[in-house]
Amino acid sequence: MLPLPFSGITTFARSTHVPVNECGGVLAGDKPRIAVLGVPYDSATSSRSGARFGPRGIREASLLLWGYNNVQKVAPFEKLDVFDAGDADVVPVDIRATYASIEMATSTILSGGYRQLTLGGDHSILLPLLRAHAKKYGPLAVVHFDAHPDTWDLEYENQPYSHGTPCRRAIEEGLIDVEAYFQIGIRGPTGGPEDYQDALKLGARMVTYEEYRRLGAKNLLPEIHACVGPRPLYVTFDIDAVDPAYAPATGTPEVGGLTSYEAIELVRGLKGLNMVGCDIVEVAPPFDHAGITSILAANLGFEFLSLWAMQPGR
Ligand code: MN
Ligand code: MN
Repeated sequence: MLPLPFSGITTFARSTHVPVNECGGVLAGDKPRIAVLGVPYDSATSSRSGARFGPRGIREASLLLWGYNNVQKVAPFEKLDVFDAGDADVVPVDIRATYASIEMATSTILSGGYRQLTLGGDHSILLPLLRAHAKKYGPLAVVHFDAHPDTWDLEYENQPYSHGTPCRRAIEEGLIDVEAYFQIGIRGPTGGPEDYQDALKLGARMVTYEEYRRLGAKNLLPEIHACVGPRPLYVTFDIDAVDPAYAPATGTPEVGGLTSYEAIELVRGLKGLNMVGCDIVEVAPPFDHAGITSILAANLGFEFLSLWAMQPGR
C-alpha cells in the first residue's frame, strides 16, 4: 500500500533518518547510497531571508513523491538506498562556524560512500559543499542554475562570504574546473555591466535566460555534455533561476526566468553525466503560495535522485 501523503514523520520522501555521525558505512548494502542533508542557514542573504525553512518546506512537499519517474522510466528509491541525514548544525550569527560545520558533515557523509543531495539554505552554503566535494573528487565541473552569477568579490565591506560571492571564492580556491562551468538562467537588472563581465572573466560559460530561449534545451544540453564529458560534476540549483511566477518563495526573485517544466527538462537532460553531488538552495517557504516553490524543489530533488539511479554502474 502507498503511504498517505498527509501522515507520518517528515523526512525527505519518507526515507529513513540516519544522523550524519552514523553515515560512516554501518548500513552498507549493495545499492548506491544517497544522503539528503538539510542546511537551514540564511544569514548571508542580501534581501528577504527565510531559506532557513527551506529544508523543512521541501521535505514536507516531498511526501507527495510517489516513487516512479515516468519520463526517465526509473524508480530511484528502488535503485538507490536514500537516507535523510537531517540537518547540518548552523550558527546564524557566524558564517565561518557554519561553513566548518557544513564541510565536516558533508565530508563525513562522502567518506561513508554516500553521495549527497543538499537542501538549503541560502546560496552561501555552496562554498563549503564544494570544498568537501573537491577534497574527494578534485576540481569539479559545475552546472549552476541561477538568476545571478554569484561571482561578486565583496557584497559587504571586508566580508568575503555571502550568498552573492560563493562562486568567485570557489574559483579562487580552485574548487571549480572553469573549463566546464555553466551558469544557466542569468537575468535581471544589475548595478552595471561588470557583474556579467566579471563572471565571464572568471571563466564561466554564462547562458543568460535570453540565450537559453534562443538555444533551447535541444542545443544547450549537447553543449553541456560535450564540455563536461566524464569530469566529476556538481549541480547547484538556485531556485531563483525559475520565474517567480512558478517559484515565488525565494529571497531575491527576478522576473522572466525558467518555467517549472524548462527547469525539470534541463535537469533530466543531465542524464549520463558523472554527477557526484547536487543541491537545491534559496527556497524560502514563508514567501510561498500554495506550496508551489517547495513542490517544485521536491520534484527537482526527485529528478536528481533519478539521475543517480540511472548512472552506469550504479
Ligand atoms: Mn545563487
Ligand atoms: Mn540567485
